[in-house]
Amino acid sequence: MTTYGGIEAGGTKFVCAVGTGPDDIRAETRFPTTTPQETIRRAIAFFREQGELEAIGIASFGPLDPDPASPTFGYITSTPKPGWANTDLVGPIKAALGVPVRFDTDVNGAALGEGRWGAAQGLDTFLYLTIGTGIGGGAMAEGNLLHGAMHPEMGHIRIPHNWEADPFEGICPFHGDCLEGLASGPALEARWGTRAETLPEDHPAWELEAGYIAHALVNFTLTLAPQRIILGGGVMEQAQLFPLVRAKVRELLNGYLQVSEIAEGIDEFIVPPGLGGRAGVLGAIALGERQAIVR
Ligand code: ADP
Ligand code: ZN
Repeated sequence: MTTYGGIEAGGTKFVCAVGTGPDDIRAETRFPTTTPQETIRRAIAFFREQGELEAIGIASFGPLDPDPASPTFGYITSTPKPGWANTDLVGPIKAALGVPVRFDTDVNGAALGEGRWGAAQGLDTFLYLTIGTGIGGGAMAEGNLLHGAMHPEMGHIRIPHNWEADPFEGICPFHGDCLEGLASGPALEARWGTRAETLPEDHPAWELEAGYIAHALVNFTLTLAPQRIILGGGVMEQAQLFPLVRAKVRELLNGYLQVSEIAEGIDEFIVPPGLGGRAGVLGAIALGERQAIVR
């Protein structure tokens, strides 16, 4: 029986599962992300109990090296997370389990999973953006996950910042007021002095937040021509953001793009994830499946 393994490797927890899709998860475990050695050992121990696997997909926090031809393939590279910079995540797992491994970013994994089973089925060019502790984007471009020199880092783009309307300086340690610095969950908390989930639905925070997200989506739309954009992550639990973001995207584009996705179907252009909170681990399984099918 065909089975794939998936690891959702997050900065706070790891989720490991085996199966073939949303209706067929045969085993699952989760544990906190501690030291690389201990965390990797627990993942290996879980998969050892699961019988034969075709392949394993790892959808990980980063930055990381997803290029199989690179000497540091499989490494988490320059992360600020203590103990994890320059960690070989794939090597020990591949060596211990003897299966092919596909390694990609958490958001590229989520994009793949959404395309396979969720909100982007049938599309070949789309984005998955998470707005949570950080902001990151995964892109499917003509049927392939987008990589290049490394992988996209869509959270760190610059967007217009009106200092008079929003004097908050931003919290990105590298750029201050980049998109992540202005619009991530921790940025909301720092600006307003309370956790984002405690801000009332009619708080001015959301209009401002929607404006920043919309500027980013306009840039991504003009650059990558996606057929759909999926917005996930904790901050997007605020469902009132969706209509605000859609309206602002249309306003900023100002009629320039006469494609039906945007002109007539903005409600289907900017959407929540179809897999909800399962996007991460299912994305990892989808990476495993892809590794098994397309070597
Ligand atoms: P992570 O990015 O760490 O994987 P999340 O996507 O849940 O996890 O993002 C966590 C961030 O999202 C925190 O900054 C938190 O304040 C914020 N957040 C979580 N739930 C909500 C909510 N319902 N409304 C607004 N913000 C939320
Ligand atoms: Zn930044």
